[in-house]
Amino acid sequence: MTATAVHTFDVDRARRETPGCENVVHFNNAGASLMPAPVLDSTVAHLRLEARIGGYEAAAAAEGKIEAVYGSAARLLGCGPDEVAVVDSATRAWDMAFYSIPFTAGDRILTSEAEYASNFIAYLQLAQRHDLQVEVVPNDDAGQISVSRLRELIDDRVRLVSLTHIPTNGGLVNPAAEVGKVARDAGVLYLLDACQSAGQLPLDVAEIGCDMLSVTGRKYLRGPRGTGLLYVRRDVLDELSPPMLDLHAATWVARDEYRMRSDARRFESWEFNYAAKIGLGRAIDYALGWGVERIRDRVYGLAEELRRGLAEVPGVTPQDVGAELCGIVTFTVEGVAPEDVKTWLGVRGINVSVSRVPSTRLDMENRGIDELVRASVHYYNTEREIQLLLEAVRETGSGTGRSGG
Ligand SMILES: *Cc1c(COP(=O)(O)O)cnc(C)c1O
Repeated sequence: MTATAVHTFDVDRARRETPGCENVVHFNNAGASLMPAPVLDSTVAHLRLEARIGGYEAAAAAEGKIEAVYGSAARLLGCGPDEVAVVDSATRAWDMAFYSIPFTAGDRILTSEAEYASNFIAYLQLAQRHDLQVEVVPNDDAGQISVSRLRELIDDRVRLVSLTHIPTNGGLVNPAAEVGKVARDAGVLYLLDACQSAGQLPLDVAEIGCDMLSVTGRKYLRGPRGTGLLYVRRDVLDELSPPMLDLHAATWVARDEYRMRSDARRFESWEFNYAAKIGLGRAIDYALGWGVERIRDRVYGLAEELRRGLAEVPGVTPQDVGAELCGIVTFTVEGVAPEDVKTWLGVRGINVSVSRVPSTRLDMENRGIDELVRASVHYYNTEREIQLLLEAVRETGSGTGRSGG
């Protein structure tokens, strides 16, 4: 790739291929991105095929396409197709990995301040069930997980290091590869929640050094809702025991005997929304077509511009912390509740969302924040859309928004 290619991004094409751009100014990409037309078309086409010839028959006819989803996921993550399970959400992916770990009493789990609620709820459940210790590694001064503190906390009772790469409530990008190095050196299992990073920045499981990694389809990958991916490293597969099995994950070979699949699909279930699965594969190919590095550069650049603009609006406080900041931009407006900011923007066709304490309790309590406005940018957003957002936020803060919001 030439130097100029790195800096040019065909935004016009991205928008032409994104039907939703005609209707909304979409800054809720950390919630669910607007699907590109090729994803929408391939998903709908399979649904139509199911209606025309039958669901099983459609799956058989599309077998090649369905199988190719694993190859696409493998290219996205830098792993083998046999190390991928396609599931219906990032949470399901993460849970299948986490609940597979054969914990024993006294085991320690080391995790981060940025942890997502569903993950932490699962820690609490298994901590009670198996008498485990859940310990939160403090952040460093930049607001990311302290890798040196993590290293100090490692001992031979640590069973798992579990990290959220990018939290749901801010621009932070945790140093996943440096954490991976610590986990590798200690020979400890490492589970990475890459829900917000997949499709936003390059992910290479070998470089990160994780054993398990979870992804959602609908966020930065721009896939259909109800899709997710789980990566499980080949070498740890037999160390894990899936919390549930069915006739797809295993085969009933004799009256009292079953045999599990030899690959990561032992974490899947038989039934799946094949239209969504095909759409997910298309979304991954589409992201790879743009180039994930180029996507990251564009997204980070737009987010930086938005943060700079917000900092200049009276009464607005940008709230992102971290050494590396991504496309999730969070802020508060003095005297205006985040929900009112969201409503005010929504009336103007601008989509943002609100993050609250119960989603990321540790981080929000640490920083003394109850609620935030979250404006998450994607590569199809424009500088002009950022100006529209800034103008609308400026009106909110000036009091116009208070009466209207
Ligand atoms: C959204 C999110 C999840 C959950 O993803 P689902 O696909 O809804 O299960 C997990 N972790 C983080 C950090 C998230 O932002």
